[in-house]
Amino acid sequence: MRWKRVLFSGLGIGLIYTLFIHAKTTPDSPVQDKPIRTIVIDAGHGGSDPGARGRYSHEKDVALDVALKLGKILEEALPDVKIVYTRKTDRFDDVHRKAAIANEAQGDLFISIHCNAAADLSRVVGYKTQTYRNKKKKKVTRQVAIYEKYPNPAKGTETYVWATSKNNAKTESLRNNSVIVFDANSEETKELMANSDPETLIMLNTLRNVYFDQSLRLSTLVEDEFTRVGRISRGARQRNDKGILVLHATAMPSVLVELGFISNPEEENYLNSADGQSEMANCIARAVKRYKDELERIYKAAESGRKAAPVETPAPVQQAPVQNIATSVSVKTEAPPAPAADPSVHYKVQLMTSEKIYARGATLFQKLDGTIEREDLKQGKKKVHKYIWGSFRTEAEAHAAVYKAKKQGFADAFVVTYKNGERVDL
Ligand SMILES: [Zn+2]
Repeated sequence: MRWKRVLFSGLGIGLIYTLFIHAKTTPDSPVQDKPIRTIVIDAGHGGSDPGARGRYSHEKDVALDVALKLGKILEEALPDVKIVYTRKTDRFDDVHRKAAIANEAQGDLFISIHCNAAADLSRVVGYKTQTYRNKKKKKVTRQVAIYEKYPNPAKGTETYVWATSKNNAKTESLRNNSVIVFDANSEETKELMANSDPETLIMLNTLRNVYFDQSLRLSTLVEDEFTRVGRISRGARQRNDKGILVLHATAMPSVLVELGFISNPEEENYLNSADGQSEMANCIARAVKRYKDELERIYKAAESGRKAAPVETPAPVQQAPVQNIATSVSVKTEAPPAPAADPSVHYKVQLMTSEKIYARGATLFQKLDGTIEREDLKQGKKKVHKYIWGSFRTEAEAHAAVYKAKKQGFADAFVVTYKNGERVDL
């Protein structure tokens, strides 16, 4: 089995760097490079759980109608994508079950459809005179306000991603779903995921951050599409209260769309109308299409970059550490470097020092393009291993690489300098 893929790419205006990791089981299966193969659509609530109530309708029914319409549009518009529904009927499933359906389907994207509600407000509409006896049994009269309830005017759409306070839970969902994360369900991946090493955690957290960025991107696109048809957008937000479980229990990018306020009579009519439902479904579908197109552009760029590079050649894993001898542990090679200003000087990045030996292709190095070298050292009686990445012509490139490495979780990464093949910064 081989993992690969690496790519940092600017998404949107390029301020947010997003990392796309993709692992695959065979090197010659370009079809697996599709970033979105399965989309899971979740109609919120259902059956005995009606969700929010409007004057005459229930959230569960609006959510189901729009979820089915969205699915139909996507099935037609994206024939290469499998659409999975957590429910297609008025059925109750516990939210854990809904998350399990998404994980079993190995979704690449999870979209949960809900409606908002805000409690009625009350206002004073008049006063009445009330008579009562005080402690001295004396009759007293007073003015008492008369209240009337009226619908909360809150309206508009919101799209949620999981709250960062649930990051650990999301990481655990990834850990428990190696088949989604790696396209593989082997003993090797299970072992890796069960690993309590900090390095496994770094890798999982990195992936989780990628999913967070992707979820946030989609939520922004959904809200943008709603705005374009004249809806009021209350924004893309982090969800911290009820309804969050499906967002962090699914091992994939996930968003929750609140279509509107069923508690607002005007919006309740819109949410229940055929035109309104088709407009909302189309908005979400367009956002999904834009999201998918963006990801595919990035994947394509990565693919062409990889094809331009020399072909990988597998090398035997060297297990026995030998004191002070540099051992190449990587199968990856780099494009030939352009001539440097001073050809005798080049730079590398020391990623970390660890007592553990990581084989070539170790998952934690997957996102780093280029050679990973291991240097074995003895510290007293302990054997330690330095992991050194790449070869860079200029100091600026090396510093950019350090930045990249730190984003991958190699917090202590730093630049090392070589002259005529000898390390000179020790
Ligand atoms: Zn709901």
